[in-house]
Amino acid sequence: MSNNEIKTSRRTVLCAGAAAVAAVGIAGRAVAQEKIDKSIVMYQDKPHEGQQCDKCLQFVAPNSCTIVAGVISPTGWCGAFAPKP
Ligand code: SF4
Repeated sequence: MSNNEIKTSRRTVLCAGAAAVAAVGIAGRAVAQEKIDKSIVMYQDKPHEGQQCDKCLQFVAPNSCTIVAGVISPTGWCGAFAPKP
């Protein structure tokens, strides 16, 4: 392998690595932006008819949700409530 071939292959590897890092960064932002705004799902900071976030499949302790953006109270509720089995 010549010096030029080594430089070219090293550049190819570095470019591929940079592209992969950029793709992960973009994907991470996309995931973060996919969360729903509280107003769309009528989020409230209090329970609703015995349902509350800490009894929902989407709740992530201590205070977030996999689908709704922002700080989520364990005793909050929204229209996307899905009971834990
Ligand atoms: S009730 Fe709504 S905000 Fe609360 S955890 Fe479930 S989906 Fe998230």
